[in-house]
Amino acid sequence: MTKRQGVAVLGATGSIGASTLNVLRRHPDRFRVTALTAHSNVEALDELALEFDPAVACVTGLEGDLPDVRWEGDWRVGPDTGFDAIEADGTQIVLNALVGIAGLEPTLRSLELGKRLALANKESLVTGGSLVMSALERGGGELLPVDSEHSAVHQCIAGRPRHEIAQVTLTASGGPFREWPRDRLAEARPEDALAHPTWDMGAKITIDSATLANKALEVIEAYVLFGLDPDQVGVVIHPTSIVHSLVEFRDGSCLAQLGRPTMEIPILYALGFPERIGDQRTAPGFDALRDGPLEFEALRTDAFPLFEAGVEAGTRGGELPIAFNAANEVAVAAFLQHRIGFMELAEVVISTLRQFDAAPVGSTEQIWQADGRARALTEQAIQAVRLRDTNPPAEISIFGEN
Ligand code: NDP
Ligand code: MG
Repeated sequence: MTKRQGVAVLGATGSIGASTLNVLRRHPDRFRVTALTAHSNVEALDELALEFDPAVACVTGLEGDLPDVRWEGDWRVGPDTGFDAIEADGTQIVLNALVGIAGLEPTLRSLELGKRLALANKESLVTGGSLVMSALERGGGELLPVDSEHSAVHQCIAGRPRHEIAQVTLTASGGPFREWPRDRLAEARPEDALAHPTWDMGAKITIDSATLANKALEVIEAYVLFGLDPDQVGVVIHPTSIVHSLVEFRDGSCLAQLGRPTMEIPILYALGFPERIGDQRTAPGFDALRDGPLEFEALRTDAFPLFEAGVEAGTRGGELPIAFNAANEVAVAAFLQHRIGFMELAEVVISTLRQFDAAPVGSTEQIWQADGRARALTEQAIQAVRLRDTNPPAEISIFGEN
């Protein structure tokens, strides 16, 4: 029997965490859970700990006492306990399914310790790209993408040298507002944005998919992961999310990876690589007759300004992608709390970006500094927008009767 590999699941109570645990449930002969983390959902983590009995269960968003729990194992509480999960006895693979820049330090630590990192948390690559790649080199670990588009690209490249790659095309579903006219978008509510047509995901990435900020983050993720130049990464809209991405090689041949939209396939690929592990899938496989025709269309930048803003930030580099990520995280939270409208989300992010340049970043301290400054500036921009919306400038009538 193959020796079972130990997996630490960071963000076990989230959407990718749940998909990962579904995969692990089906492969007890190949993998065992060494650690589970949650930020604040102790009740859900307690359930999972009872089921998987890891070496440690970590709650990163609490300080002090743990509420009553049923699992009697080794609980760790506090902001740094994510590292305990990575370092738990027997952890060989770390699946990072944290949301936002909170995933950066765990990404760096996993790679420095030479683990296999199955990475869903794209924000760590966007904010710390060069540091992540040097941690990978120093630690001698492995970095396998979980994001479905990047998993597709990894599968298409299949170890071929970088100079053979001509162009990578990431696909995008277009989100719930693909066909909405621009003037209607101002009215889009969080409930509308949370109704994604093809993927069932956590709230932050679902909003990012509605604004297409997610696709900008993914373009940057592709530059970093595959060492590509900005002009080598493009995006097309593919509403049914069957083709997960395409890679064109210099001889003119183009490969694509296809499958019904379920994150369990890229998760299993990242856990099992280079082996393709046999799986009793929960989702049916691709069927060329039922799943066609495969349609593609151009992305509408007029209605989704965050896409271009994010790609430009990624292309220019330095502090800009960090500022884009931070401003976007703050703006998404404000939109979900009904503090700003859908189009104002882009407005406040872009107004923050204007106050940054491509100053180089070489340490985590500099990343946190740029992140903090961008968050404060975005909060100010949100206040200004709210003030304007509650006190709109008086309408001046040219006819003088009102
Ligand atoms: P969710 O919001 O569903 O889950 C996030 C997880 O991280 C939860 O376990 C949550 O704990 C924990 N968490 C939240 N905030 C913090 C924090 N500040 N510090 C530490 N842990 C925290 O997110 P998703 O699963 O949707 O996404 C996770 C990552 O994967 C994101 O980077 C996303 O972009 C990426 N991704 C997601 C896809 C998807 O299908 N969902 C597809 C491709 C990429 P708690 O439950 O206690 O709050
Ligand atoms: Mg994706």
